[in-house]
Amino acid sequence: MMPHVARKVSEARKYLEGKRSSDSRVGLVPTMGFLHEGHLSLVRRARRENDTCVVSIFVNPLQFGPTEDLEAYPRDMDRDLDLLSSEGVDLVFAPDPDEMYSPDRSVTVTERDISRSLCGSARPGHFDGVCTVVLKLFNILSPDRAYFGEKDYQQLQVVRRMARDLDVDVEIRGCPIVREKDGLAMSSRNIYLGEAERRDALALSKALVEARSAFEAGERDCRKILATVRRVLEAHPLVNIDYAEIRDAETLLPVERVEGRAVVALAARVGKARLIDNTFLEP
Ligand code: AMP
Repeated sequence: MMPHVARKVSEARKYLEGKRSSDSRVGLVPTMGFLHEGHLSLVRRARRENDTCVVSIFVNPLQFGPTEDLEAYPRDMDRDLDLLSSEGVDLVFAPDPDEMYSPDRSVTVTERDISRSLCGSARPGHFDGVCTVVLKLFNILSPDRAYFGEKDYQQLQVVRRMARDLDVDVEIRGCPIVREKDGLAMSSRNIYLGEAERRDALALSKALVEARSAFEAGERDCRKILATVRRVLEAHPLVNIDYAEIRDAETLLPVERVEGRAVVALAARVGKARLIDNTFLEP
């Protein structure tokens, strides 16, 4: 069945009011659309674990920098609705930017700690945009649970921190990265890759596999693990490294040796695409 599509905040609220009861749960999957299997894995889980499944589709202008790909960002609402219809989604919330942001809006949400490094330093203001839109979606849709991919691991941790610090009554659930058969992490932005770029883009997941092998062979020194990672990335001329780091998986603080759960996080520009990927190292 086709999901109910709400373009207005009031319409989404009204639809959900009719669905809510004391023992019924609402699960939300926030997306920017142009859906792939990564998104759908979140949707399936939200559907399985809740009575009502809501997907938002909104290319959030606030999280794009002035020189980023807001205009070019791929969109295909008809295809997205077909996919979501096959998944049995109840409600799709797909507002226009002016439904979400008044021209004189003056309040944003800023996380001041874990959003500052990694993607936050390459994309100033990005996580303010993410926190602001996610809090708005939480306020509009009041989900019991919200599902985020570990592909955007820093985003997941920032959203968790935001929900904790602002006492948002929602449970944040992280979901594993879905990859193409050859290992490339699925992303709407992979569509930007030309053939040669697509081949070189594989270096990210390859580098993470190498990092894990080094770790599994007993290596705990982050400098050494990262040297391996860089070697793989640098062997691919179309890959321009933005960062390659190992961080504590909870706090995202830098670590020198892997003693607790850590995350190897990569960002690189390949042609017009900025790609990110990561993997966990768990002693
Ligand atoms: P986006 O549309 O890129 O904003 O992504 C919407 C949600 O889907 C975010 O929580 C992402 O982390 C998640 N996501 C995107 N790609 C993947 C993937 N390959 N595997 C798992 N989750 C993903």
